[in-house]
Amino acid sequence: MAVTHQDSPSSLQQRAQQHLLLHFTRNGELGPDGSGLLVLERGEGPYVFDIAGNRYFDALSSLFCSQIGYSFGEEMAAVAAGQMTRLAFNTNWATAHPPAIELAERLAELAPGDLNKVFFTSGGSESVETAWKLARQYHLARGEPQRIKAIARDRAYHGVTLGALSFTGVDRFKTPFGRPAVDVRHVAWTNQFRPLDGLEGEALTGGLLADMERAIQEEGPDTIAVIIAEPVQNAGGCLTPPPGYWQGVRELADRHGILLIADEVICAFGRLGEWFGSRRNAVEPDLITVAKGLTSAYAPMGAVLVSDRVAEPLYAPGATLLHGITFGGHPVAAAVALKNIEIFEREQVLENVRALEPWLERELTEKLLGLPIVADVRGAGFFWAFELVAGDRQQPFDADGRERLLRGFLPGRLRKAGLIARADDRGDPVLQIAPPLISNRDQLAEMVGSLAEVLADAGEFMGLVEA
Ligand code: PLP
Repeated sequence: MAVTHQDSPSSLQQRAQQHLLLHFTRNGELGPDGSGLLVLERGEGPYVFDIAGNRYFDALSSLFCSQIGYSFGEEMAAVAAGQMTRLAFNTNWATAHPPAIELAERLAELAPGDLNKVFFTSGGSESVETAWKLARQYHLARGEPQRIKAIARDRAYHGVTLGALSFTGVDRFKTPFGRPAVDVRHVAWTNQFRPLDGLEGEALTGGLLADMERAIQEEGPDTIAVIIAEPVQNAGGCLTPPPGYWQGVRELADRHGILLIADEVICAFGRLGEWFGSRRNAVEPDLITVAKGLTSAYAPMGAVLVSDRVAEPLYAPGATLLHGITFGGHPVAAAVALKNIEIFEREQVLENVRALEPWLERELTEKLLGLPIVADVRGAGFFWAFELVAGDRQQPFDADGRERLLRGFLPGRLRKAGLIARADDRGDPVLQIAPPLISNRDQLAEMVGSLAEVLADAGEFMGLVEA
């Protein structure tokens, strides 16, 4: 593939090193000329291409965003151009425009239960903060101003702006920034590989719910405004719920007058084979937060879906929604989101995920679980993690091992394999994938083959031998 950008790779890397601060990145470790930086300039289907023309299978969908992949640019551009020509911008502050109205209506149709009201944001962190504020307004209107706390789960990631950061359960992201804005109690996660008290199946569900109930009782049930959780928790590595867990959480929330927020910034828009991950868990939350896949990231946008019950006080005479975001519901982004939904339906994106999930699970399990470094393969839909261990199935890597494996060996080896995936240790070390939802069986098979080679080499690098 010919280089299409006028700048040489080294010039771009160097200029990035000089001016561009990279998010959640050790900015100082890309070399003085930035030569460690992957600069991507083009996408096609599930692939992205760097400035030197190298192709990568984007097995992370650009951080869980590019559900429909990269080949719909022209169609999206036409929609965006049409909207820009008609009405480039206006707000959802006391006025409205057709794309936001139509999109809100479409989302209400697709959402579970009576989540019929939609507040638009610019991204996931804003969605989480919006959900919190809507919940607070609900409790205030019902004469319960004392509900100022929240329950979230250990190591869950709910965003980084100071409000959203409160709900995030990763201490090292939080402690540098002082006291959280919201008082949040974190409870046990649904890790079935290293389960709470060694419990399994329904016993684990019981244990997790008891842990949550204990936290609620200790904090005072009538001080808690919300429980927030992802249908499948990302941080920690695709932690699926044990049977009946979400029904139990719903019951706990109802019993104590607490609102239930499903944070679906990753799990909505097909990642789990459904429009909304909560459908897969057969639960109707009171609020759902989304972003990323809402537009397949052809434009930045987020939203909060709100049940009629929670929105009702906002329609009372004299009541004002005390929250607003200038770009929330941007008409160009809304038009792109509507087109994204149309493409999902036309290209049968959900159907593709549903059809391939059982095969993908088998393939990943067969090809990866036998490797000495892989102890667990877990996930759902097109959202999988492989827990990496130091030989013995239960033996985690120590800090030095993590450093050498996750930040030393894997990034370079993945790149050599033409694969973008995530090596992460917010929980125990995992390699994680979330391929574009339009990926076909051949593309996924090639991805699994590359993963197997990379992880076999990783085992060797870490001194592990085949059993
Ligand atoms: N909530 C969840 C579950 C997420 O995964 C993320 C980001 O990955 C966020 C919230 C924050 O989204 P954003 O990065 O768009 O602010």
